[in-house]
Order: sequence, then structure tokens, then C-alpha cells
Amino acid sequence: MATVEELIINGKKKVHSTHAKMLLADLLNLNPLELLLHLDEEVTPEVEQHYYEQIQKLANQEPLQYVIGNVNFYGNTFVVNPKVLIPRFETEELVENTLNFIQYYFSEQDLKIIDLGTGSGCIGITLKKKIPTSQVTLVDISKEALTVALENAKQLEAEVTCLESDFWEKVPGKYHIVISNPPYLKQDEEVENIVVQNEPHLALYAGEDGLDCYQKILSEIKEHLEEEYLVAFEIGADQGLPLKKMFQEVFTDALITLKKDLQGRDRMIFALKKKA
Ligand code: GLN
Repeated sequence: MATVEELIINGKKKVHSTHAKMLLADLLNLNPLELLLHLDEEVTPEVEQHYYEQIQKLANQEPLQYVIGNVNFYGNTFVVNPKVLIPRFETEELVENTLNFIQYYFSEQDLKIIDLGTGSGCIGITLKKKIPTSQVTLVDISKEALTVALENAKQLEAEVTCLESDFWEKVPGKYHIVISNPPYLKQDEEVENIVVQNEPHLALYAGEDGLDCYQKILSEIKEHLEEEYLVAFEIGADQGLPLKKMFQEVFTDALITLKKDLQGRDRMIFALKKKA
């Protein structure tokens, strides 16, 4: 039987050593640092076979998160498969900023939150975990994505409502918090190969200027907002100006804030309405 060290050495011939260690650690239910304490131990033939299959997938340019089947998002583990976008670090920043807004401006009691285009459910489920008294609705047009979101909600013990709908199409009622990381790439935008070839295009692209989904959401949003509300969207780095204009037209009496990510690019926009 092969040892942990031998498997790592062989894996490194095909993929980055960090990835090889992460795969093996995941298969052995260890974290990558613990793995180094087990270098001399032998692994079962099943683990060995599974490991080499996964190494091959990585070598074939499949994203690590799909190969492992999960990803950490804001401290929780979310199941992912090629039917959903892989949750990104920027989206954690959207959640972080939204939580700050909520903490300062809203009482957490009976807060109604809706996550439009939920994909894996990472945004809405994280908010439900952080604000257990809130009522959270997860919406996606894709049944397969909702299956993933539902599985994540179950595993993370988050009581949420899932709704198959093209944004507002089948959504009843009003919400205090409307949050979304919708598709926002331009049709011809240059994106890394590993993204284009593996992640669902439905979750990535939004028309010629990448603004289609924002337009769709904003066109009906007014009917779905409580008197006091927060709207929070992730946006593309060059979409700050058009989005600000769109927000100013729709939210005439709200406070609009464009926020940069840690790398200094426009990445989020918020509209906040509080009674005077
Ligand atoms: N809301 C999910 C995420 O942020 C999916 C987003 C999407 O599919 N565009 O990861």
C-alpha cells in the first residue's frame, strides 16, 4: 500500500502541490496541515484510487471546488457541483458589508430577506445562520441549482424557503433585505478558461453589457420592498457608474453607496432606506 507521502509526490507530477495536498487531506478528512503529520501512514487502495481519479480531473482543468465537491464560504462548508457557480471571495465581502448595514440600521427581529439567483445558496444561508430570527427566501431559475441550495440548507441546518422563479416572477410579498450576486458578465467578456469551460453560463452571463439581470431585478423591485429596506448587489468592476445611475432612477429617496473590494475595485452597490 502506498503512503501519504508517496501519493503527494506522485500527485505533484501532475498538479500543483497545494492542490494535491488539499485533495488528499479532503479524502482523509484531515486539514492540509494535519496531513503532514501523517506522511508515513499507508492509505487504503480505495482512497488511493479515488485520489488519482481526482488528480486527473484537476489535471484536466476542472476546478478544485467541483472536484472536491465543496467550498468554504464565510466559515461554513457548502456543497457545490457544476450546476452552480463556485462561491467567490468577493461575495463574502458582499455578505460582510450587508451584515454591517443590518447591524447598524435594522432590528434583527422578523427581518425578511430574499437572495435572488441564489445558486449554491451561499449568500442567503449564511445570512440565515448569522441572523437566525430572520425569514430567508432563496430564489433561482434553475431547479438543479435549487437542489444544491436545499441540500446546503439541510446540512447547515438553516430553515429557509426555496423558490424556483425567474427573479421576481413567482415571488410573493415584500422584503426588508434584497440581496443578489446575479450573472453580470458581458456576452463577449474575457474570462479565464477554467471558468468558461466549467461553470454554468446561466450563472455568469447577462447580455451585451452585462446589465440585463440588474435591469430585470430593478424593474419590479419597488413592489417587493418594505417601507425600510436595504438592497445589496455584487457588481462587475466596471459597472459602478451604470449601476449607480440605475439605482438613482429607481431609489429616488434612498441612500446609495458604491463600495470597493479589498483590491480597490467597485464591487458592490447598496441602497438603504430608513424612515426619517
Ligand atoms: N448567489 C450565488 C453566489 O453568489 C450564485 C450567483 C450566480 O449564480 N450568479 O455564489
